[in-house]
Amino acid sequence: MSATLGVLLKAINPAISLVMFERLDRVASESSNPWNNAGTGHAALCELNYMPDSKDGSLPDPSKAIAINEQFQVSRQFWSALVKQGILHEPASFIRTVPHMTFVRGEKDCDYLKRRHEVLSQQPLFAGMEYSTDLRKIAEWIPLVADGRQDTKIAVTRTEQGTDVDYGSMTEQMVGWLVSKGMTLETNVDVKNLYQFGDGKWQVWLGGSTPRFIHADKVFVGAGGYALKLLQKAAIPEIRGYGTFPVSGHFLRTDNPDLVSRHKAKVYSQADVGAPPMSVPHLDTRVVDGKESLLFGPYAGLNPKFLKHGSILDLPGSLKWHNLLPYLSVAIKNLGLVRYLIGEIMKSKKQKIESLRAFIPTADPADWTYYEAGQRAQVIKPVGQSGTLQFGTEVISSTDGSIAGLLGASPGASVSVSVMLDVLQKMEPSDFDSYSKQLRKLIPTYNLDLNADAALAKKTMAATAKTLKLKA
Ligand SMILES: Cc1cc2nc3c(=O)[nH]c(=O)nc-3n(C[C@H](O)[C@H](O)[C@H](O)COP(=O)(O)OP(=O)(O)OC[C@H]3O[C@@H](n4cnc5c(N)ncnc54)[C@H](O)[C@@H]3O)c2cc1C
Repeated sequence: MSATLGVLLKAINPAISLVMFERLDRVASESSNPWNNAGTGHAALCELNYMPDSKDGSLPDPSKAIAINEQFQVSRQFWSALVKQGILHEPASFIRTVPHMTFVRGEKDCDYLKRRHEVLSQQPLFAGMEYSTDLRKIAEWIPLVADGRQDTKIAVTRTEQGTDVDYGSMTEQMVGWLVSKGMTLETNVDVKNLYQFGDGKWQVWLGGSTPRFIHADKVFVGAGGYALKLLQKAAIPEIRGYGTFPVSGHFLRTDNPDLVSRHKAKVYSQADVGAPPMSVPHLDTRVVDGKESLLFGPYAGLNPKFLKHGSILDLPGSLKWHNLLPYLSVAIKNLGLVRYLIGEIMKSKKQKIESLRAFIPTADPADWTYYEAGQRAQVIKPVGQSGTLQFGTEVISSTDGSIAGLLGASPGASVSVSVMLDVLQKMEPSDFDSYSKQLRKLIPTYNLDLNADAALAKKTMAATAKTLKLKA
């Protein structure tokens, strides 16, 4: 997120002075690291939670799915522009075509998927989405999912133009370019606290081997799950009442060449009852450093850390008198979720393999290794005296625009460009409109309703596919 904002800022004002602080010894070692997230280019092609079923069996509403796809098209255009400018290197180092599929079982979900397909396949941004209930066809697309399957009623959708993205590689390339353009990057430096002077500028307290202070006109808190704590330390009134609900993520991974060669897709399914939307199970082709693996998960769990390399005191330390009621009300209203997360932690390896076998009936436990991915810090948003658990992202900024931070984790890195444009607008409200010319050079359809213009949608997707060397 910070790297994206840095590149946007440099595009608008090449003379801007930027400094980035990272508490670990290198950037992209938390959620943006390829093994800490699933690398899905979220465009709502396969994730059912972005287009839930209607209550009465009518056609489901596609508006949220369309909005997410449009945001992903903004990211694709931005990344294409960066490739053309040499800021991002060979596209295969960070993005590849991997078909996005949805797989469901049982009468009810098959009917829902059919109606979802009926609606989405009419939308320009989802053109070409296929639907099938034919096991022979499904076996051609995803043999591992079809082999040995006893279910009589299954259905899938498939969009060939899905993507797998290495957000870690992308981050490193953007930060490398920013440093080459004069940005100072300091690693192993922990931002401890933030104080605002009377003139609106900020003093940043830095820990590490030589603790010190620096001054800044503006601060973006791109600290992932830790952003809540830093915004609380900055004591801006806008953070009052907010909290963070951390959910850990684990995956099963295999590098077995036979399995890897027989599965070329990201296959998402329906979440278990009580599961949070980000725990939708999926079986993915994953490409990191040019090597293909398969991962299955996530297995969610409760863990009080706000970062994978965080502290178990993160959650208790974030409790303040102003967010106690929101925290308490979210805990009470989401007891089912808490029970689900505890249940997930308690699952034995055998039970974990049972979940995998819903996707790969012939799965052999010996092929799979269980590993810890990143922490997702979901937003607890104040509503009146109580709070609500949100599964999206939320930009928090001070009224004077001198500081902003990002809470939440979904749809995540896929929509980083749209989210950082939102940050920019909040931090530079009076100048923002004057940036549109520079922004259009990076994002030609900036501010346009892409799905509403079929010809433009097709042209834009074809252009970014060509530059990013993706399936058009
Ligand atoms: C299990 C899982 C699966 C996911 N799957 C997907 C997916 O498939 N597709 C997708 O688009 N998104 C996915 N996401 C979300 C995505 O990973 C995140 O939205 C994105 O990486 C967040 O980027 P960021 O820069 O905000 O945070 P991060 O990448 O976490 O970076 C924050 C940085 O701030 C540093 N930091 C924190 N505190 C301090 C401090 N006090 N001082 C100095 N430095 C500090 C951290 O060390 C870290 O390097 C997933 C996330 C998880 C956890």
